[in-house]
Amino acid sequence: MLQMTIRNDEGAGRAPGRSTRLLVQSLTKRYGDLLALDDLSLTVEPGAFQALLGPSGSGKTSLLMSIAGFLRPDSGQILVNGADVVHLPPERRNFGMVFQGYALFPHLSVLDNVAFALRARGIGLQERRKRAGAAIDLVRLTGREDHYPRQLSGGQQQRVALARAIAFQPDLLLLDEPLSALDRALRSELQTELRSLQKTTGLTCVYVTHDQDEALSMADVVAVLTAGRIVQIGSPVDLYERPASRFVASFLGKSNFLELERAGRDGDVVVGRRGDTVVRHRGVSDGDTEGSLLLTLRPEKIALADAPEMPGHNVVRARVLDVSYLGSAIEMIADAGPLGRMIVRAPASDIARVDQGRDIGLAWREDATVAIKPDA
Ligand code: ADP
Ligand code: MG
Repeated sequence: MLQMTIRNDEGAGRAPGRSTRLLVQSLTKRYGDLLALDDLSLTVEPGAFQALLGPSGSGKTSLLMSIAGFLRPDSGQILVNGADVVHLPPERRNFGMVFQGYALFPHLSVLDNVAFALRARGIGLQERRKRAGAAIDLVRLTGREDHYPRQLSGGQQQRVALARAIAFQPDLLLLDEPLSALDRALRSELQTELRSLQKTTGLTCVYVTHDQDEALSMADVVAVLTAGRIVQIGSPVDLYERPASRFVASFLGKSNFLELERAGRDGDVVVGRRGDTVVRHRGVSDGDTEGSLLLTLRPEKIALADAPEMPGHNVVRARVLDVSYLGSAIEMIADAGPLGRMIVRAPASDIARVDQGRDIGLAWREDATVAIKPDA
């Protein structure tokens, strides 16, 4: 099946996608009793690479298909540069699309696959060749114009799909897990290429993925979805360094959670306690002095402690339960007594210091923790 947008009347001299701002307002979509999109709103700035990240079933595809026009939402608006497109069929939205499957015409050459949308738009042969050729250059398939899809690797086929999606100068590029069928090395290579191609063309891009590394490494802005809602949106650094909830902290990489009782304050440090272990947290404070305190702490923020106390740090005793050697680092599970099991990522050179069963000290800066909402 050909999955792209086709417009007969225009497309040739359109303004480039650089100028496209996408506004999704209060989008709701139900499948029977199931609320797939729950009053969801999102702004994508012109030229931005926007990732939609969430677990399977969180509504990513429903959102993308609504933007593309293949799915009719129950309510809400989709504005492209201020104009509501919600009632326009897909072919009149002028968006390029790439999916997980390659969806190429098997009986057409690379050049003809890419030029197809241009022909459907009534663009003449010479111009078609020129534009398709330029798109093929952009995805680095020059010299393969006459090949057929079956003669290409998975990665090359997906490059053709990408060239096809950009050749007609779409206003928006929509991608739904386009690299998830590829092996790891190829995926990483195509991530880099896709990102640089998006920068070169300045296309506003919405990229669906369930892979947090992919979202963090590629996107300008990441929206984290669960149950049809955006639970946090921000730059990759914002989301990783300052997750707002337990869900976001654990979905974006590994994290420790310290469940503490508040035990007072020391200047701008909030003091928490669990059993006889005291944890000092320096960060934005909600001002509460009583009740519980939930902190998240990334494994790589924890180091092996060389001393029982270190200024500006927390130091706790722990016993090594398990060590994994990862080549560039080690990952260790340690039993930190009242704080429970902690996961620690340390330089590979620490391997000699962390045999299973050994007692060690773990240290982290007072400002390495982030206070989060105690959600599910
Ligand atoms: P994602 O892409 O994040 O995996 P989807 O948008 O595909 O999420 O699905 C969101 C929810 O809607 C899921 O619970 C899914 O099972 C359900 N769903 C998706 N499409 C349909 C459909 N055509 N009919 C019924 N339920 C659907
Ligand atoms: Mg999906």
